Amino acid sequence: LLSNEELIRRIEKLKKEKNAVLLVHNYQRLEVQSIADYLGDSLQLSQEAAKTEADIILFCGVDFMAESAKILSPDKKVLIPDIEATCPMAAMVKAEDLCKYKMEHPEDYIIIYVNSSAESKAESYICCTSSNGVKVVDSLKDKKILFVPDKNLGHYCKLKTGADVELWDGYCYVHNNKISLDDVKREKKKHPQAKLVVHPECTPEVVAEADEVASTSGIIKYVREHNEVIIGTEIGLIEQLQKNYPEKKIYPLSENAICVTMKLITLAKIAWALENEQYEINLDEEIIERANLALRRMLEI
Ligand code: 13P
Ligand code: SF4
Repeated sequence: LLSNEELIRRIEKLKKEKNAVLLVHNYQRLEVQSIADYLGDSLQLSQEAAKTEADIILFCGVDFMAESAKILSPDKKVLIPDIEATCPMAAMVKAEDLCKYKMEHPEDYIIIYVNSSAESKAESYICCTSSNGVKVVDSLKDKKILFVPDKNLGHYCKLKTGADVELWDGYCYVHNNKISLDDVKREKKKHPQAKLVVHPECTPEVVAEADEVASTSGIIKYVREHNEVIIGTEIGLIEQLQKNYPEKKIYPLSENAICVTMKLITLAKIAWALENEQYEINLDEEIIERANLALRRMLEI
């Protein structure tokens, strides 16, 4: 078995040989975060994917993120180190559901959270991420909107903008099921001086108790500006912040908030993926073209 140091050396060598770039999401294992060319939230990683000069994009995250990279850079080879690294929320809305909805509500605008399949994006007007959701909804404020698939992010954007938003019944099992109001009560009692920052995928009742609601990169920014913070999101980001800011008091709102599929990506699988140029993301050309429109509309905002 190779040590982490040996694996990292091997990855660095392969990266140079193949002109590959490593895009890494904030929820990845710390050792994977440590070898990132770009570490960030969904929006930042999409922006990097759209402008990279590399020949290969190796995506350390879940499938919809790698698919978005392919949609934005269709001429590049996009790899994901484990084909089972999927986001269950993305499967909660299907392209055919959206086709049917559009037939029944031809005047509505569909806003789709990036945590969705390429096929569903192709049926939608515009994408959003957790960091620009409010802005995107606000840009269509005078229209009737269907927000898919995350009901919690949709609810938060609706609340912030006052827009006419229909919500889909999707959710993230980590933020919706593993972080609760009881966690908020317990942690606030334990740390009465601490600020509470949560991801907008949390339930409305948890969001209502927060001092700040932000994407993973927004949470990083918030922690830079405060000294004692309780964080309601996936544990990978909290580990990153505890490592980078040892002088600050940083507490997880829930120790159980673990995205199992994010953790499937390991150094050994990354080395293997670069060596064998697998698993490659391949999407239908027509789907790429239509989904690209929805993603580009978002990037213009
Ligand atoms: P961010 O875009 O905030 O990084 O969130 C992605 C995600 O999957 C949250 O669960
Ligand atoms: Fe999907 Fe939730 Fe994991 Fe984010 S944390 S990738 S929304 S399952």
